[in-house]
Amino acid sequence: MRQAMPKQAAEERAQNFAEVALGYTLEQAIAEANRCLQCKRPLCVEGCPVHIDIPGFLKLLAEGNPIPALAKIKEQNSLPAICGRVCPQENQCEGRCVVGIKGDPIAIGNLERFVADYAREVGQEPVLTPAQSLDKKVAVIGSGPAGLAAAADLAQFGYQVTVFESLHAAGGVLRYGIPEFRLPKDIVQHEIDAISELGVEIVTNHLIGQTLTLDDLFEAGYSAIFIGTGAGLPNFLNIPGENLNGVYSANEFLTRVNLMKAYLPEYDTPIKVGQKVAVVGAGNVAMDAARTAKRLGAEEVRIVYRRSRQEMPARLEEIENAEEEGILFSLLTNPVEMIGDESNTVKVLRCQRMTLGEPDQSGRRNPVPVPNEYIDLSADTVIVAIGQGPNPVLLRGTEGLALTERGYIKVNDENLMTSIPGVFAAGDIVTGAATVIQAMGAGRKAASAIHAYLLEQEGN
Ligand code: FAD
Ligand code: SF4
Ligand code: SF4
Repeated sequence: MRQAMPKQAAEERAQNFAEVALGYTLEQAIAEANRCLQCKRPLCVEGCPVHIDIPGFLKLLAEGNPIPALAKIKEQNSLPAICGRVCPQENQCEGRCVVGIKGDPIAIGNLERFVADYAREVGQEPVLTPAQSLDKKVAVIGSGPAGLAAAADLAQFGYQVTVFESLHAAGGVLRYGIPEFRLPKDIVQHEIDAISELGVEIVTNHLIGQTLTLDDLFEAGYSAIFIGTGAGLPNFLNIPGENLNGVYSANEFLTRVNLMKAYLPEYDTPIKVGQKVAVVGAGNVAMDAARTAKRLGAEEVRIVYRRSRQEMPARLEEIENAEEEGILFSLLTNPVEMIGDESNTVKVLRCQRMTLGEPDQSGRRNPVPVPNEYIDLSADTVIVAIGQGPNPVLLRGTEGLALTERGYIKVNDENLMTSIPGVFAAGDIVTGAATVIQAMGAGRKAASAIHAYLLEQEGN
């Protein structure tokens, strides 16, 4: 049977920002790794966007060797403690595990997390070293998973790599989006430090497109540029009242909590959470915002979603965690207006009742309004979590950079080069909002393409 992940009790964890999942013991980890059948054709590896040698690391762990197991993972993944925690494994590695056909798949993510945590706690981490030293500089714009993975690989190829980040701390969504109780910030920092130790320089507070342009970077001697600026521009509902006080985008709300440390009592961060919070949307971002609002002391937190539970895009595990923590769900409910009080602060979220119609292109059944059926929900805080678009600053400020119809960067599918020679892009800024490991996989692919491009340039 699959080893259950020990967790903080729901009533307790809803009051604090400490990590919900507590991690396996060594005995649990070895027992779980022993369930792996060591398949000759391991489908789990095909399900992992960076193709970690999963049976290889599980075998080492099953034999009681967590440190070599981590070294095996690090051949493909520079952020294992992070991915073990946040990858949607049910759709990736574990979704393809053959043991999952008749029972519970091997807990690959929990075990990846375990070996990374174990090595960190005993202070015996495998040290990666660059293969050689090349006399060329590469600039990486954005320090999210795509930028970090590209930077780590480029440094290992031997390039001098500088990562430029607009915010004051590195990590992208890992730092400012995913909350502390799912992904502790000291773990993010630790894995970023390991990338810095490879020789990668991280320069924060540099908004490329404004502080410096791509031309400035080429003039400063960078031979190639990688763009991994993500999809951090929030979508809004565009309904009356959305500009009232007390209405946040999930992005702004989570950034304030994470980056300005509202989760620590000793920080006096300007974030106001009322007693009744409505979070619009039902993806992972919405669950994160709702669970964060609860932890900041809101009495009642409600997810408002226009489809049913079955269509919710969030991971099932996160929906269940939210339910256990007392988050309420108003389903088949679509906001149409926000109504304020005399101080221009939101007090009511007016919604229309919905029913489900035919499936749309994504296969999910379409929400259809029920005529003349409205419901008024009391809310002194509304958080809008209905998706994000591309970060625009760099795109607006760069002449000749071709974009897709949806406003993302257009790249050559083969080598991820943009319309500007020597400039490559990957991650959410190319695909739209995806996952950490998909962004990392794409960042790695771009790093290999940059290496090939620079070798070719040298040959000419
Ligand atoms: P990002 O992580 O967005 O990083 C882009 C970086 O570029 C940012 O640091 C930004 O400040 C910087 N930047 C932008 N413009 C500039 C500029 N002009 N100059 C310099 N720097 C710039 N995925 C999962 O797999 N599992 C999860 O549990 C999960 N939960 C999520 C929860 C939330 C709240 C959010 C928002 C997303 C979540 N995701 C999750 C999605 C995942 O985090 C993203 O797909 C992933 O981070 C994309 O990586 P990226 O490197 O492309 O971009
Ligand atoms: Fe699975 Fe993510 Fe680890 Fe790949 S990186 S093996 S998808 S948990
Ligand atoms: Fe092990 Fe499952 Fe991968 Fe087979 S598919 S090697 S059982 S983890």
